[in-house]
Amino acid sequence: MFLGRISCIFNSHKPVRRSVEWNGEIHIGKCRACDHDIRRVRKGSWRRLRKPDAKTALPKFN
Ligand SMILES: [Zn+2]
Repeated sequence: MFLGRISCIFNSHKPVRRSVEWNGEIHIGKCRACDHDIRRVRKGSWRRLRKPDAKTALPKFN
């Protein structure tokens, strides 16, 4: 399991700028440290994006 940086453990992420998208409601991006999907809660503050369906799918290793 890849935990990323210490800040990620505390749910404070930094997005990859190119990955950031506006979905009409919130900004969504990829964390540059832990590679999780994250959403912007306020300027400079990003939190993990919850994807309830993501964990029901079998992980792919390759
Ligand atoms: Zn992170």
